[in-house]
Formats: sequence, structure tokens, C-alpha cells
Amino acid sequence: MSAVAPAPSGTTLPPHLTLLYRGPLASCDYDCPYCPFAKRRDGPETLRADRAALERFTDWVAGQEAEHPGTRFSVLFTPWGEGLVRSWYRRAITRLSHLPHVDRVAIQTNLSGRAGWLADCDLSTAALWTTYHPGQVSHERFLAKARELAGMGVRFSVGVVGEPEHLEAARRMRADLPGEVYLWVNASEGRTYTDAEAAEWQALDPHFHYSRRPHPSRGLPCRTGDSVLSVDGDGNVRRCHFVDTPLGNLYDGSFAPRLGPRACPLTSCDCHIGYVHLESLDLYDVFRGGVVERIPAGPVTTLPLV
Ligand code: SF4
Ligand code: SF4
Repeated sequence: MSAVAPAPSGTTLPPHLTLLYRGPLASCDYDCPYCPFAKRRDGPETLRADRAALERFTDWVAGQEAEHPGTRFSVLFTPWGEGLVRSWYRRAITRLSHLPHVDRVAIQTNLSGRAGWLADCDLSTAALWTTYHPGQVSHERFLAKARELAGMGVRFSVGVVGEPEHLEAARRMRADLPGEVYLWVNASEGRTYTDAEAAEWQALDPHFHYSRRPHPSRGLPCRTGDSVLSVDGDGNVRRCHFVDTPLGNLYDGSFAPRLGPRACPLTSCDCHIGYVHLESLDLYDVFRGGVVERIPAGPVTTLPLV
């Protein structure tokens, strides 16, 4: 159970709260065959709503320095589509990175946009969870972006979806990325890997075994709903992106009294942004200091490429 800090508003929050934010934005400039959001367009109204919702969320986090001074925050933006091609996501990350009570702010991105704006961020706080989608971007273009980020001193991980047709591209990217950059591999949804296939991906990502199969989770303690929350554009709070039970609203404070340890109600958890918070796994140790942006604490060691 998390210890709680007293708060002037009469509610209490844990000493550290991780917020997974996902607003209405669902458009993407890429066309990945494994994604329902590929090449989807958001109309002007949706974009306006997404921007207003994100600004409201950012204001709320900023206000917590005074409202709940005993609580520190980490934020991961997990848009359905691509956020960094929208100025308001770049602004939100820049602003949050400079707040003294924010430990980390990160976003999942395909890295299609420019990187220069990151120079205005506090790079000890801002980070990127990037995904390389072979077929959507050339090796050279993605690698040049990754090298630019590394040269700027940006914290980032690089991921690949473990589709068989991505294996050669993933190997080449691993070989060319700076050695200290972690390349993770997500098991492709619904795919079963033979031991030989899994070994090929494990050689690239020493933590692939966590992703290979869904984690049985029903009844197991999970930090979501206690020190980790999912927030949508209207401020509706749920424990995680995968459990629909509402836990109140961020903006009226109704979520706060409902925080507390509770077991997972679902059969299994198969997404890193979920099972990383399962207490039965050791992933808070593996990713200590980099849980939201998926950067392991230790040096990245990979098996020799075959
Ligand atoms: S980059 Fe991400 S959001 Fe965009 S189409 Fe590919 S998987 Fe979907
Ligand atoms: S184990 Fe996964 S699905 Fe279950 S509560 Fe935790 S994050 Fe949600």
C-alpha cells in the first residue's frame, strides 16, 4: 500500500502519482498495417477539443504543486495516434518538464516530427518512447532522428513490433543505434512465438521475454488505481487503459478518495504500459528511473547478432 501525504484540500494523494493520459486525438501520419489508427484524420473540431483537453490536463498537473505539495508526478502521453506533430503536445511536454514537482514527462511517438523543440525542455525530465515502424520510414531517416536525439542528450527508447518481416530491419537498427539506446521489442498482438523465433527477438531485446506472452493477472496486486492512473480528455479516471470501471474525475477531485490498492480484475495483461505496474513482476526494478519511457536501469546488453 502507498503511504499518503496530507493535502490542504482535505484529500490525500500518494507521494508519487503516475498519470497515463490519452485524449481524443486519434489521427496518425503513418499507415502501419497492424494499427486501427493508420492514416486516420481528425476533423478540426476533434483537434480543437484535443488541444483544449490537453491544456486543461497540463494546467491541472501544474496546479498540483500548490494543491498537493507532498506528491510528485510522472506523466506518459499515450495518444491513439501521433501527438508530436501537434504543437500542443510539444508545448505540454516542454511546460511539464520544467515543473519542479514533475519527475518525468514522456510520450509515445513514431518520431516523424522534428526534434528541435526538445532543446526548450528540461532534458532531465522530458523523455520519448519512440517506435520504429519499418515500411513507414527508412532506416536512414529514423536512425538520423535517433542520432539527433542522442546528440541533444534526450532520454529515449526505440521499439519495434515483433512481426517476422521486421526482424532484419530491427537487427540493422540495433546494430546502428548508439549502444546505450535501449531497443525494445513488443510481441505482435495475437502472435505465438516458437522458442526459436522468440530467441531471435530476445537477442535484440534482453527483456523480450516479458512481452512474449500475456501475463495472467486476475487477482494479482497492480499499482494502477493506487499510484498509477489512466486519464482521458474529459478527466475521467480509470485505474488503467484496459479496465473500464470509472474511478471518478480528475478535475472535481472525486478520484482521490477512491485511490487504493486493488487486485487486477482481468484475466491477463498483455501491454507493457499495463503489466509494467504489476507488483508480481520485477519491472519497477528493471526499469527503475525509466518506467514511463521504457528505459531499463542497467546497461543495455544484447546477445551477439546472428
Ligand atoms: S505510427 Fe503508431 S499510431 Fe501511427 S499508424 Fe503506426 S502504430 Fe498506428
Ligand atoms: S494488470 Fe494490467 S489490466 Fe490489470 S489492472 Fe494492472 S494494468 Fe490494468
